[in-house]
Order: sequence, then structure tokens, then C-alpha cells
Amino acid sequence: MNNTLTLWWLIPVILLPLFFAMGWFVARVDMRTVLKQAKSIPDGFYRALDALIDRKTNIATQSLNEVIEQQRFNKNDTGAYELILSLGKLYRQRGENDKAVALHQQLLTSPDMIGERYHRLQFELGQDFQNAGLVDRAEFQFEQLVDTDMAKEAYEVLLHIYQQDRDWLKAIKIAEQLTKGNISYQFEIAQFYCELAQNAVFHSDLEEALRYVQAALKTNRKCTRANMILGDIEYEQKHFQAAIDAYSAIEQQNHEYLGMIAERLYQSYEAQNQAQEGLNILIGYAKTFPQLDIHHIIYEKSLGLYGEQYAREQIIELIRMRPDLQGVYHLLGIKITELNPTWKADVDMMRHTVGRYLQKAMMYRCRHCHFKSQVFFWHCPACNKWETFTPNRIEV
Ligand SMILES: [Zn+2]
Repeated sequence: MNNTLTLWWLIPVILLPLFFAMGWFVARVDMRTVLKQAKSIPDGFYRALDALIDRKTNIATQSLNEVIEQQRFNKNDTGAYELILSLGKLYRQRGENDKAVALHQQLLTSPDMIGERYHRLQFELGQDFQNAGLVDRAEFQFEQLVDTDMAKEAYEVLLHIYQQDRDWLKAIKIAEQLTKGNISYQFEIAQFYCELAQNAVFHSDLEEALRYVQAALKTNRKCTRANMILGDIEYEQKHFQAAIDAYSAIEQQNHEYLGMIAERLYQSYEAQNQAQEGLNILIGYAKTFPQLDIHHIIYEKSLGLYGEQYAREQIIELIRMRPDLQGVYHLLGIKITELNPTWKADVDMMRHTVGRYLQKAMMYRCRHCHFKSQVFFWHCPACNKWETFTPNRIEV
């Protein structure tokens, strides 16, 4: 019995050298294959790779070009095809758009370029034209691809082009094409309708503006910008209660945006001889949503309606509820008149110092790319995203 057990224990010990031998053999075979393959890659390819790592794109393009020329690649060969596409991208990156266009156009004339390969080349050529600022020619290339396997990529670039051209109707069509499954463009489409509505308001075509606003709200019922424009349209037509309804509905959509309509909401109440009610609504907003940047409006309106004393008390109460640097700046301005003359100069200096800091530190900021600006944008100029800006200036 004991002898049998000992034999079982010995089996792995006997087999161990065999396993080592097999591992060594497999590794050797793999290394041979790798070395064989490596020898078949031209030296110029390594030079190009090395130059790319060192960000020397001029040397990289030159080396890649040499590889393609020397090897007289068969363009049907997948490696050669990919290499030519890479060379085209490098030309584009270096701003040598004419070379990229020539390379891609020459390859497109090859009778063997069909199907997916042909479409990819067309897409690359479109990008060459776009990079060169030849937007019409780029648009033409991308439009050829909308019924192909490159449709999604083409639609995405076309959407970008139409937004840059401010061609919102075309942008809406493209965004609708891109809306599939979990991918939604409802924010963007509603914003495109808002752009059209804003344009119609600018040209005093309120009927058309109203149609676009309704389309925006149908696409995205939470679109605060659509309600802002709707309020403006109603106000323009002296439908003050309808304007109040449109502006007030923003509280349910996204209260962060209430600061942007505070002034216009007050004016709508004022136009109906209900200025005091309008002011109370704003004070209510400031108390419920302390992050709203509306203290200065409340102070100004209170001053006009009830005088200095009331305005001061009102604003001090709001600042004390949520003290911040902006509040301190306001408070110093209010308190300075009550101070002993010996203190006044120092407090004035403090107020100016805080004011200078605030000017630099309080900004709107894109939540997507963190681009900062003193001006609010619906469409971030840095990352091209919509509705990513903070609706209230924040300390940055
Ligand atoms: Zn951004």
C-alpha cells in the first residue's frame, strides 16, 4: 500500500523536466516566427515608427513614403493599404493637405478599390478637404457615404459641419438619422430648433419662432432655452401672463436656469402692475435656490420699489443665509456708508481687492471640457457640446 502511494508522488517529479522541455521548445518556435516576421518588415517602417515616437512627423512621412515606393506595394495588400491611409493621416496632421488629397485621389482611381476600402478612402478624402477648408467638397464626399458602411462616421462629421455652418435644418435631419437605440440627440435637436426660433425672433417672425419653440419642447420637454424664448415671444406680443407662465415653468424644468430669466420675469409682472409680486417671486427663488446669481437684481428692484433701507435689509438677509465672496463684496458696499470715516478708506480698499479677485474668479464653466468664460454659451466653443455651461457663474 505504502509503495503504491510513493509511486503516485513520484509521477509529477518524473514529468517535471518533460514539461520544462516542452515550454522551452514552444518558446523557441514562437521566437523564430517573430524574428522571421520582423525580418520581412522594411527598415523604413521602423524609422517611421521611431520618428513618430519622437514626434518628428516630417521624418516619419518621408520614411513611410520611401517604404511604399521601395517595396512597390501591391495596393490590394491590406498592410500596404493601411500604410497608405496612415501616410495620408500624417500629411493631414502636418497640414500638407494637397499631398493627402493627391495620395487618396490617386488610390481611388485604382480599379481594385471597391466596397468598404473605397468608402474608407472617400471618408479620408473628405477629411482632407475639410482640413484644407474646402467645406463644400468635403460635404460632397461625406454625402456620398450616407448609404454605405461608413454612414455613421459620415453623419457625425456632417453634423459637425452643419453646426459650424449654422445650417440648423440640415443638422436636425442628420441628428435624427444618428438617433438609434440608446443613442439620443434630443438635447442637440431641441437646441437646433431653439437656434432657428432665436433667428426667427431676430427677424420679427414670431409665428415661425413659436413653431420652432414648440418643436423644441416636443423633442425635449425639459428644454429651458425653449421656455425662455417662448416667454420672450409672449412678452413681445404683450401677452404678459403667458410670458410669466413660460418663464416660471423653468423652475420645474431646471431651476438652475432661473437666474437667466429673473429680470424678464420681473418685467412681465411689472407690465401688469404687479411689480411687488414679481419682486417677491425673485426673493422666494433666492431663498429656495441660494446658488442663483440674482442678488443684484433683487437689490436694484427693491431699491426702486421700497427705497434704500428695505433694499439693504433684504440683501443682507439673503447674504447671511449663504455667505460667499460675492456676498461679502455686496455687503462691504452696503455697509460702507454706515461706517466711521476712519474705517471707510480701508473697507473701500478691501472691497476693491475682493472685486478684482471676483472678476477673475467668477466665471461660467463648461462641465464637459472646463472651458471658462465671462460669457454664457449654450454651445461650448471649445468642445462643441450643448448645454454644458453652468447657468450661474461659479468660483473657478
Ligand atoms: Zn466644453
